[in-house]
Amino acid sequence: RAKAKGRARYEIFNPGMHQQAVALLQLENDLRRAINRQEFFLEYQPIISLRDFRLVGFEALMRWQHSKRGRIPPIDFIPVAEETELITPLERWAIRQACWQLEQWHSNYDIAKSLVIHVNLSGQHFDEGLVAEMRSLLADIPLPPEVINLEITETMLMQNAETAVSLLNRLKDLNLRLSIDDFGTGYSSLSYLHRLPIDTLKVDRSFVNKLDTDPEQVAIVRTIMTLAWNLGIEVIAEGVESIKQQAQLNALQCDYAQGFYFSRPLGAEQIEKLLQESVAHFTPHPTAIPYKA
Ligand code: C2E
Ligand code: MG
Ligand code: MG
Ligand code: MG
Repeated sequence: RAKAKGRARYEIFNPGMHQQAVALLQLENDLRRAINRQEFFLEYQPIISLRDFRLVGFEALMRWQHSKRGRIPPIDFIPVAEETELITPLERWAIRQACWQLEQWHSNYDIAKSLVIHVNLSGQHFDEGLVAEMRSLLADIPLPPEVINLEITETMLMQNAETAVSLLNRLKDLNLRLSIDDFGTGYSSLSYLHRLPIDTLKVDRSFVNKLDTDPEQVAIVRTIMTLAWNLGIEVIAEGVESIKQQAQLNALQCDYAQGFYFSRPLGAEQIEKLLQESVAHFTPHPTAIPYKA
């Protein structure tokens, strides 16, 4: 978007920028239509316990199957949805869809009874309206609130810390679970953490993927783990891609993991196949020693 003032005014004559602006407008228009055309769907990435390598739940991730351009990744359309304020209705759909899907799995498969669902929240959606929305969802759905985990980022929290704390408390009053996503990458929430009713920290993939090569990263992740442990917060390591990373996390006594090493995000039909076949275990590293609680 060309800024209204100063230097940026000249840049609008740059043909590259013009093309970009046109492409963005097109994307906005398509996004508006995509909701009605039902071009969005969810994928579910398994979350694994590092104690026993059992499936404990999923993170629901939004996908857009564009009629002409094919798959558009969330990092390309979420920011546009935020800018156009389409994010709230879109995410409202995603949360309901994910929760009803889990409800169905709970009632259809014995091994799914205790599985949880994580959903991502945009900063724009994180307001009073969300509290009402979640309350109404919980009134409709026969799912215990404890299995629904809302993920918010550090940056969202720190943009308006006082409001954030009060909103989090309202959501916690509904017995929902709350996570800080991409922990360690945002504007630091370290000094606030003890005041937040947070259940889970998701350690960002950028720390996890250096665990097997960089001893300093091991020290950082160990520190995050100790902090969380002292505050009674559980930890999920994001983006685990290798046996070595998994073994390292085991040695650090990390609670949970999510990553391509265990499973990529999968479509609902693929998850159902796993549940039908009662696949509740995900292969651990042969030398991993599950820790004793
Ligand atoms: P996120 O919430 O941190 O989600 C995890 C992302 O890491 C997902 O990317 C997932 O596919 C990817 N990932 C998982 N394991 C691995 C791994 O081992 N290696 C690598 N390289 N990547 C891994 P995805 O699905 O592309 O989503 C990207 C981001 O888009 C999400 O990051 C989240 O911030 C956002 N997003 C997705 N769905 C929603 C939504 O419904 N609402 C909002 N506000 N944001 C969403
Ligand atoms: Mg997330
Ligand atoms: Mg994340
Ligand atoms: Mg991330």
